Amino acid sequence: MDRAVERNEGALARRPTRIVRVGGVAIGGAHPVVVQSMTNTDTADEVATAIQVAQLARAGSEIVRITVNTQEAARAVPKIRERLLAMGLDVPLVGDFHFNGHKLLADNPACAEALDKLRINPGNVGRGAKRDDQFAQLIELACRYGKPVRIGVNWGSLDQALLARIMDENARRPQPKDATRIMHEAMVASALESADKAEELGLPGEAIVLSCKVSGVQDLIGIYRDLAARCDYPLHLGLTEAGMGSKGIVASTAALSVLLQEGIGDTIRVSLTPEPNGDRTQEVVVAQEILQTMGLRAFTPLVAACPGCGRTTSTVFQELAQEIQAHVRTRMPQWRLQYEGVENMTLAVMGCVVNGPGESKLANIGISLPGTGETPVAPVYVDGEKTVTLKGDDIAREFKAIVDDYVARKYPRRATT
Ligand code: SF4
Repeated sequence: MDRAVERNEGALARRPTRIVRVGGVAIGGAHPVVVQSMTNTDTADEVATAIQVAQLARAGSEIVRITVNTQEAARAVPKIRERLLAMGLDVPLVGDFHFNGHKLLADNPACAEALDKLRINPGNVGRGAKRDDQFAQLIELACRYGKPVRIGVNWGSLDQALLARIMDENARRPQPKDATRIMHEAMVASALESADKAEELGLPGEAIVLSCKVSGVQDLIGIYRDLAARCDYPLHLGLTEAGMGSKGIVASTAALSVLLQEGIGDTIRVSLTPEPNGDRTQEVVVAQEILQTMGLRAFTPLVAACPGCGRTTSTVFQELAQEIQAHVRTRMPQWRLQYEGVENMTLAVMGCVVNGPGESKLANIGISLPGTGETPVAPVYVDGEKTVTLKGDDIAREFKAIVDDYVARKYPRRATT
């Protein structure tokens, strides 16, 4: 049995949902959990935005969101679409609208046409008396152009009128609920009431995705459990303002993994703050790695590596692990086109023979470098059998050649009839 499938048996069945089609991508039902990301360029800069969308899509983002906040940004959207098509990319684009979205879409039909989905935040649609009217205009535009909508509630911009109403209702209870519980209720109510209103206005239920993003891990888990129990819309999961570096990665992974393990979540985004001039595609890699390490999807061969210890005397082992990881990531776009199932391949790069051969036998291909005091040779295991022992200064190149040869032999694309 394939190892990815074996691991997947531990995951619970996905929660049943409607299916929403966003361009060529299906969200919900039994479809695989979709990876999304968002640009941080000025959308009005059509060249920079198209380049970043392309980078995100090539890294594996299956849907990309761009902010549409000004007339210039709205006018740039169809040009971004054209540039992407010229690059051979038809990745679905989502427009993120706040406050003036109704006007931008009404003024720029080509923008509405070029987008595959609209994201609106019920707390940022409009203030006071304008709120309902502008929400209705947005939904009417989505219906007119046949676009699905993500109703994306965010704790930082929760509809204050709705929150006040829920707090008043709570105060009249004989035993009022605590503030955390009320915050959860208000988030879920905002999403569900907005979805009801959208359906009343004519938007099909099969064109609605919901999200309720907060920055606290336990809050996110509690809110999505409530939301999942009370509707059958597909859910977009993400911890908002997750943060930078390891904090953002760990917090997102902790929150999303619990929910995904419970079958909750049909599309995910990992909202990492990049380092200044850092690589925006890191959020895509992390989202893929969450899904792959949980055995829910496979994107790129996994490289298992031991942490190293006092038995490793040099950096050769770390360098080899890094080089192999980079090698499979670099090769993957081409492998994906040429070979079938290569994303399920597993590799092991181990620092010595204590655990090396055992871990190597469990992987499709494994190598154990010599530890302190060991003979300077590196046994290689392929499908559990020791095939060759590498030595000398060219181990990395020889090992990569073994990997490339294995991929070509093991994963030929089957002919379609
Ligand atoms: S495999 Fe060897 S080098 Fe790696 S952690 Fe275990 S004992 Fe240390």
